[in-house]
Amino acid sequence: MSDPKGRVTVIHQRDKCIGCHYCVEYAPAQWRMSKKDGKSVLLGSKEKKGFWITRIHESDVEENKKAAKACPVNIIQVRE
Ligand code: SF4
Repeated sequence: MSDPKGRVTVIHQRDKCIGCHYCVEYAPAQWRMSKKDGKSVLLGSKEKKGFWITRIHESDVEENKKAAKACPVNIIQVRE
């Protein structure tokens, strides 16, 4: 789950999302598909100039890195 005290940052450039669903498959605790526009949602994130940003705990890093790697348009960043 997202946590404001997590030390690792996850960034989603949401406007470029093609709705492929991979991030949800690899990191279901952190991602959902939006029924409104078919793009994914980074849970707990806040938007800043087109980038949706949240912090996660170390224990969630691995699966979010997998999501980032799987994203075909390369719009997920995991920054430790
Ligand atoms: S993997 Fe990338 S393109 Fe696919 S739904 Fe997630 S953020 Fe969007």
